[in-house]
Amino acid sequence: MTGAKELLREKDHVFLDFDGPVCDVFARFPAREVADRLKRLVEPDLPAEVRASADPFDVLRFAASCGPNAAYVVERQLGRLEGEAVAQVSPAPGVVEVLREWSAQGFTVTIVSNNSVDAVRSFLGLHELAEDVRRISARTTSDPARLKPHPALLDAAVKALGTSPRQCVMVGDSAADVLAARAAGVASVALATTPAKRRTLAALDPDALVVALADLRLAP
Ligand SMILES: [Mg+2]
Repeated sequence: MTGAKELLREKDHVFLDFDGPVCDVFARFPAREVADRLKRLVEPDLPAEVRASADPFDVLRFAASCGPNAAYVVERQLGRLEGEAVAQVSPAPGVVEVLREWSAQGFTVTIVSNNSVDAVRSFLGLHELAEDVRRISARTTSDPARLKPHPALLDAAVKALGTSPRQCVMVGDSAADVLAARAAGVASVALATTPAKRRTLAALDPDALVVALADLRLAP
């Protein structure tokens, strides 16, 4: 693993995960409640492990396994609930300063997120962060197979920027971010804010690991 700041300095484009680094999406409207609301759309076929899950994306993946119509209905409702969820939360500590600084230093920032593009856009607008973000590469499809850890969202961001994966770095707080970055040929910085995340993410051998987003500030 190299130093995170050194790695960042070598790049032009930062791909930043949304849920975690930018805000805690389900801090006020708990993920379990969102998952339970989605489960009602696909009952009574739910397998026990999906019924027990608190992760809305587990329900989306199950719906997709039932067919495109079920996936469409669940994804639409997930998008609505994500919109409600992000309206209730504030930017994560330090993220406003980091985004300002990166854009002042000439990096372009793309939000790369499994959350709905509308929810991400509305949060950025609400908190006046849109100016510091060049693009949003987030969920627009009801096909969960195209979400991280699949590299599609990163590939799309690279293409839209007209750059190469070597000029980009993905910063994210989950295994899916590190794996998607590797699959896209993009360097990864794991953001591990808890000891448990540190263990999980370090085991995936990201290119660098930080314990806070502020560790990626380059200003003297
Ligand atoms: Mg995340």
